[in-house]
Amino acid sequence: MPETPEELWERGHEHLRMPPVETWDSFPFDGEMRPRALRPPEERDPPRFGEGGVNCGRCAAPDDEYLWTNENWRLYAPDDERGLPVVVLLESRGHFAEPGDLPDELAAELGVLLARIERAIRSLGEIGRVHVCRWGDGGEHLHWWFMARPARLPQLIGSFAAIWDDILPPVPDEIRQADLAALVAALEDGPAA
Ligand SMILES: [Zn+2]
Repeated sequence: MPETPEELWERGHEHLRMPPVETWDSFPFDGEMRPRALRPPEERDPPRFGEGGVNCGRCAAPDDEYLWTNENWRLYAPDDERGLPVVVLLESRGHFAEPGDLPDELAAELGVLLARIERAIRSLGEIGRVHVCRWGDGGEHLHWWFMARPARLPQLIGSFAAIWDDILPPVPDEIRQADLAALVAALEDGPAA
């Protein structure tokens, strides 16, 4: 069993390490840095949005807020400003909290869809990689991120792409809308699996 958070904090809070970020080509920031102080554990994790499906904005959202939907899944593009070429989220239509909560039939559909959406995004061109991510610490309603990074900008490789998304200036809206339309077309035209 892993250490309790109290054990981990006791052992670690005075011995935090500073990794050699200045040698990491993909690290987005420059200058002197140090780790933030590690605060002691809390009583419980902060509540997530829509816990237990109560007041869940994703359950309440109508289909017309989404790019693409089917019987069990919905795909949408967050409307906040994004620096990466394509950022979309796949959600289960029903309220599930964790991937492991999905019945096998839905989990199997999810596997097919993750591949199909990744392929559709990649088909837009100029995409170096489509990162498929599940964090789930903000909203409880099960959702998967697709974050496409541009090709040929090696500083943007790896998990810091999610940070570069906030650093790069937003994609111009006419380009973004055209790419999202092309993504939907590729999803509808492409092979089912
Ligand atoms: Zn929900």
